[in-house]
Amino acid sequence: MIQERRKKRGPMIDFLLIGLIVTLISIILVIVLSKDHFKFQKISASKDTNSEATSNLSTENSAFPGIRITSDVSKDKRTPFAVHYPQTESEVFNDVVLQYITKAKEDYPLSMKKNKDKKATGELTINLETFPYQDHYYSFVLTKMLYLGGANHVVSTKTFFFNNETGEAINIQTLLQNDNNNLTTLAAYVRKDLQQNLELKDQLNNDELLKVTEPKWENFNRFAIIDDSIHFYFDEYEIASGAAGAPIVKLALSLINPLLASDFQIAMETMEPTKPVSPGDPNAKRIALTFDDGPHPKVTEQILNTLDKYHAKATFFMLGSRVKHYPNIARDVLARGHEIGNHSWNHPVLTKMPMEQVLKEYTSTANEIELAINQGATVFRPPYGATNDDINAKIPVPVVLWSIDTLDWKHRNSQLLLTYIKKNMHNNAIVLMHDIHQSTADGLDAVLAYLQSEGYEFVTVSEILPYRE
Ligand code: ZN
Repeated sequence: MIQERRKKRGPMIDFLLIGLIVTLISIILVIVLSKDHFKFQKISASKDTNSEATSNLSTENSAFPGIRITSDVSKDKRTPFAVHYPQTESEVFNDVVLQYITKAKEDYPLSMKKNKDKKATGELTINLETFPYQDHYYSFVLTKMLYLGGANHVVSTKTFFFNNETGEAINIQTLLQNDNNNLTTLAAYVRKDLQQNLELKDQLNNDELLKVTEPKWENFNRFAIIDDSIHFYFDEYEIASGAAGAPIVKLALSLINPLLASDFQIAMETMEPTKPVSPGDPNAKRIALTFDDGPHPKVTEQILNTLDKYHAKATFFMLGSRVKHYPNIARDVLARGHEIGNHSWNHPVLTKMPMEQVLKEYTSTANEIELAINQGATVFRPPYGATNDDINAKIPVPVVLWSIDTLDWKHRNSQLLLTYIKKNMHNNAIVLMHDIHQSTADGLDAVLAYLQSEGYEFVTVSEILPYRE
């Protein structure tokens, strides 16, 4: 009986045991397999980070719609780097940017290997600046600083001009309407600007300068539009010694406006007064600011920027001898809506000269100005205000003196500029200043702020003359 019962239980237990073993084996199998899989994943993940030299990628939104900034940072012992670059919604554009970044990252350790000092630590930094232009354009300026453990950092610049609406990168050729004449004009502006840059003066390598400013499209592809000017970038050591840094040429957009394709042009104010003051209105307050003896590459440009800030118009009485050197500054003065006057060729006392020579001073300057700005000077101011009835009768344009002398040439004090104007202020005044003194450019902002708060409108000399009878 007992044996029988045992025998009866036997197959039941066997069956249960087999079931248990099968279950256990499958559980073990699942665990082992998934462990293997886990291990495999872990290996491939660590392989990935090794090949990227333990770099850290992160992307964040920028202040500009549609633009993100990717940062790629590595703390590698010998070749650490930190690079930042833009990412847009255009994959094609992103790839172009990434090509540049990848190449910079690849070249860097290769260059480091050439360093004889095997313990030297390098450094690669690429910084990004973004400048919006009009509705949907962006200039991306990537400044690369490369240090290979030697004596010097090398600074170079890469730029992208991007249409955020179409996702396209725009090159200088498109910007200048694919027109070789426009390229030639631009090249001349850039060359002249570099040659006249006083900070570069002693550092320039003239042969290289001539080479990089030849009218070739590829010479001008490093550009950005920033506020109201276009910047062209040159690398450190490219055209000047290291002391000069990486030179940048800044040209006013108003200067190159005629060269630009219409999509990129800025709205220009014309010489005509857009809002004429009501004639005979005794309450209208006007003032004509005048600047003599220029143009000057630095001071005149600073004055133009300050005038722009207050939407003020002024008159510049130029010397022919200086227009000959700085025709592009004269063009800029005109392009920004100011009046240009003739101030003789080289500033003599006209009343002590024979009439023939007086007229030569006038005519040679008139011709030089016309050559530079493509139109004639509209008014004349004799140097030192020295004139007489004979001279006034012979000069074919109005001869204009002044009613307030700021004595800026004498005191050279930016704060006294406003003091002298306040002291002598009257309606329909013509104010004498000089755009060759830094102190005048520096003091002008305060003058404009004060006069504007007093309700004055800034007009040109020709606009104020009818009110000065
Ligand atoms: Zn003068």
